[in-house]
Amino acid sequence: MTRPRRPLVAGNWKMNGLRASLGEIEAIAQGYDEELRERVDLAICAPATLLALAASIAAGAQIALGGQDCHSAAYGAHTGDLSAEMLKDVGAAYVIVGHSERRADHAEADALVRAKGSAALRAGLTPIVCVGETRTEREQGLALEVVGAQIAGSIPRDAEPQNLVVAYEPVWAIGTGLTPTTEDVTKMHGFVRERLDATLGAGAGFGVRILYGGSVKPSNADELMHAANVDGALVGGASLHATDFLAIADVYR
Ligand code: PEP
Repeated sequence: MTRPRRPLVAGNWKMNGLRASLGEIEAIAQGYDEELRERVDLAICAPATLLALAASIAAGAQIALGGQDCHSAAYGAHTGDLSAEMLKDVGAAYVIVGHSERRADHAEADALVRAKGSAALRAGLTPIVCVGETRTEREQGLALEVVGAQIAGSIPRDAEPQNLVVAYEPVWAIGTGLTPTTEDVTKMHGFVRERLDATLGAGAGFGVRILYGGSVKPSNADELMHAANVDGALVGGASLHATDFLAIADVYR
């Protein structure tokens, strides 16, 4: 099957992983063979504490690394924050911005997410901009409206389609074992692509990779990854184990 965009399977380790966990990246590197490398991009968004150590393992295997958040400024008096430039400097190629856990835990609103996405682009990173509705919003029939507003408000307007990734992550599916139906995923991803056209310019949406995220695991990856307009996955829990992460990527073999 010829795909209009090269798939990306990205792992989000969240606040998990000590140096001993680098063995998982080594195992992913071993399993990411030539055939898989031809078909799918892999990225691991590890905690910042591990990025420099992970870089030497990942680079040899052509696995990309990513951060999980960045500040909108390049440097300065922002204790505890990291800039996109710092992530780039230790070997990251991607950075997640606007993850629902950041939106909830740190009250990050669309304008800030957009500023972080622009900062990522300025530093030469590809932002993975997360959007997704809560359970209540879905139950109220507001999913498309909420995600449409997040796209309009959080996507950096200066993004070139090939340097942008959007992850549709319904909040109620993250870490719960629940997933939307394939029909709902198809509908939402088609809608996100349309809204990207409206935000970035006609035709731009076609070039943007749109990942699905929320309880992706080896048992459901095949169906979810083959839904129309799904260009890969953002994987939380299952990315912590090389065998599960590779089994998800393997659906592209
Ligand atoms: C995530 O938090 O980005 C995520 C998709 O988590 P999980 O796969 O564990 O649902």
